Amino acid sequence: MTKHFRFLTLFTILLHACQPSASLAPTPAPVIPTATLTPSPSLAPPTQTLPPTSTPEPLPNIERVLIVSFDGLRPDAIEAANMDSTMELMQTGAYTLTAQTIDPSLTLPAHSSMLVGTCPAKHIVRWNVYVPENGFALGSDIFDLAHAAGLRTVFVTGKEKLRQVTEPTSTDFFEFIDRTDKIQDKTTVLRLALDQIAQGFGLMFVHFAEGDIEGHNKGWMSRAQLDVYGREDRGLGSMIQTLKDKGMYETTLIIVTSDHGGHDSTHGTGLPDDMTIPWVINGPRILPGELQTQVHIMDTAATAAFALGLPIPPEWDGIPVYEAFGLPVDFTRNGGCAGVTP
Ligand SMILES: [Zn+2]
Repeated sequence: MTKHFRFLTLFTILLHACQPSASLAPTPAPVIPTATLTPSPSLAPPTQTLPPTSTPEPLPNIERVLIVSFDGLRPDAIEAANMDSTMELMQTGAYTLTAQTIDPSLTLPAHSSMLVGTCPAKHIVRWNVYVPENGFALGSDIFDLAHAAGLRTVFVTGKEKLRQVTEPTSTDFFEFIDRTDKIQDKTTVLRLALDQIAQGFGLMFVHFAEGDIEGHNKGWMSRAQLDVYGREDRGLGSMIQTLKDKGMYETTLIIVTSDHGGHDSTHGTGLPDDMTIPWVINGPRILPGELQTQVHIMDTAATAAFALGLPIPPEWDGIPVYEAFGLPVDFTRNGGCAGVTP
């Protein structure tokens, strides 16, 4: 563990040590949330620290969710690549560096699970190239839910095959960069993302593809790949700055994650290097610290739905990461896909 993360851990311990736990608070016993729980605008975190004589500032509501996926990003690449924007989100938000993707740990199946909220057995996307005759991932995905609720939905991706995650009718804006998964484009994804932030959104997904491409070219954790992640992270910084400039930052929930890791110059296996991904969440109502919950890639859709107050389909395998909101967690639920560990 690096000095940086030791500091984060110590900070987290101290933070919790200064706060009464939910079980000691003189409030009614918390109820384990169900998958259909929606957030209440008046809901206060259970770890209120202000003295009783203070008038607490009302927490801003979550008005939009931004999901950023760095393709192929291993958790240990974040610090190695000096991804300062991501690390800033970790320091002031909640995170885990041991989240798990699905098997097969491939781009299109994994992004389908991330955004449809289900395991491959339900969304059925096990192919990893653009096969338009196969149609779209099955089931109600997070874009279906958000669009049906009247939110503006935006999908910006480096790879055309991600079109198969959700139907065109569920995205108000969809653009891809590359039909081949091989062309490196250093500016277009970011430019589109910044344009779309300026137009406003309720749900936005941005997929930076080049880290994966460089991993296949030069190897995972190679200097060349880390340089790409560093550049893409500065793009994330530009997106955050634009949110601030537009007065949107305080009401935006940001999730930063990945579809899979990698080893040597490939991925797709059940090896921990391929399966383990980072998962970072930052924004209104988020309790800072390292998450103890075992997060799975399907939980991204569920957490976004929870944050936006959208009804979570009962067939979803993903569970909102309640711990990030300071809410009780049912640790008896594994939440993974059958036959896949952990
Ligand atoms: Zn990928």
